[in-house]
Amino acid sequence: MTDDHEIRRSVEELRLTFKSGKTRSGDWRKAQLQAILRLVHENEDTLFRLLELELGKHPVESYRDEVGVIKKSADHALACIDQWMSPKKGRLPLVFFPASGKVLSEPLGVVLIIGSWNFPITLTLDPLIGAISAGNAVVLKPSELSPNCASFLANVLPSYLDPKAVKVIEGGREVANRLLEYKWDKIFFTGSPKVGRIVMAAAAKNLTPVTLELGGKCPVIFDSLPNSDLKVAVKRVASGKWGACAGQACIGIDYVIVEHKFASTLIEQLKKTIKRFYGDDVKNLKNHSKIINKNHFDRLRSFLEDPAVANCIVYGGSFDDTSLIIEPTILLDPPLDAEIMNEEIFGPLLPIITVDNIEESVEFVNSKPKPLALYAFTKNENFKKRILAETSSGSVTFNDAMIQFVCDDLPFGGVGQSGFGRYHGKYSFDTFSHEKAVLERSFYFELEPRHPPWSRFKLEFLRAAYNYNYVGMLLLFLGLKRVSKS
Ligand code: NAD
Repeated sequence: MTDDHEIRRSVEELRLTFKSGKTRSGDWRKAQLQAILRLVHENEDTLFRLLELELGKHPVESYRDEVGVIKKSADHALACIDQWMSPKKGRLPLVFFPASGKVLSEPLGVVLIIGSWNFPITLTLDPLIGAISAGNAVVLKPSELSPNCASFLANVLPSYLDPKAVKVIEGGREVANRLLEYKWDKIFFTGSPKVGRIVMAAAAKNLTPVTLELGGKCPVIFDSLPNSDLKVAVKRVASGKWGACAGQACIGIDYVIVEHKFASTLIEQLKKTIKRFYGDDVKNLKNHSKIINKNHFDRLRSFLEDPAVANCIVYGGSFDDTSLIIEPTILLDPPLDAEIMNEEIFGPLLPIITVDNIEESVEFVNSKPKPLALYAFTKNENFKKRILAETSSGSVTFNDAMIQFVCDDLPFGGVGQSGFGRYHGKYSFDTFSHEKAVLERSFYFELEPRHPPWSRFKLEFLRAAYNYNYVGMLLLFLGLKRVSKS
């Protein structure tokens, strides 16, 4: 564990580095992004091994959700960074003519990134890409629940990235709390709403801006679909629920809402797909991650200890204590007041909630805190419009799940209880930048009506000039007076 002295020394060194101006240069930023690309490329096999060890992720899953995501994200940042860094012209009101306006993105300073364990590479390096692109110095605190990946980052990052500008500090909640005592220029936190509140309270003491990437219960609204679409839709649901870290994903599917009359068709198709994707022997499950640790394993098991919930299992329900693997499990209509329907599941248990009419799902979703992601499988255009207009969530994906995470041009982030702030692509750059407004006037003309002594004419002049109408422009012209050069 990192001691106080080491933390203080690291933060002081980062402050000096930032002050030196080195991290502001485009060349420095590009060199760091190229180093991240080299790091994931040269250590791909190690990362596959560590992710398998830590979470039981298959290398294909690890590439799809971690290594490949970081390569793509760093490549995208490298391709766009010149454009992101360039000042943007700002249009000014004619009333200030002649003048020019621009928006300059400047780095915030020394920033803290606190990561989660479920995607231990993506959820640390992806925000890091944003922070570096924007020219900041960074402390990265990975989660203690994925210690092998955390140590990998702590040991390997300094030999690729500028060690005077990027530091990895390992540790659990005590270290996180000590880090939170420092004054940061930004805190980017990924984790639970509970810890999000602690982070925000600590940040408030120094008025430090925060981005909170939190979690919640992400619903799927599953409309009745024709057989051909059903098969594809169920594949996407089965991958979105069980194929990404065994459901331990912030945008993973939490529960499905479907009409009564369609539930058995959906469940039968889900069962067939699960067997094909993962097999049906909990001791020998294929392509399926394990639960991160015994605490989380027991937390998930405790959901099913409620007999009213256990009675609702229609598929799966087996747990293997040795490998910490839980079989993909489907529950039909568990009681709505049960814990499983009120806590974020974050694991491979899938409740299916039935309604008489799929339109009722909108009220159901709205009765819960705003989710990070909402998924709807439907071909009904009016229903899609209604979902967009009447629900609120970090993102909405129609007819698929999870893929919104890897779209650099779409903002990723929550709303309400699922967090605030956004990142990915240019949104990451903006998250770690301050957009400074720069306005420059000329001394050539002076607009006398803006200065006292006030008169009725000046009021009418300003009214017309602010409104940009022709009369206003004429008055503006008349009101401009060459400033005496004396
Ligand atoms: P967590 O909140 O327990 O931990 C997250 C980080 O906070 C870790 O680095 C941990 O060391 C630190 N931490 C833990 N307790 C702390 C405390 N008391 N004070 C200060 N720091 C503390 O969350 P987790 O278990 O790592 O992840 C699960 C949660 O994160 C779920 O709610 C999930 O939905 C959410 N999540 C969100 C995203 C996203 O992108 N929005 C991604 C992954 C996970």
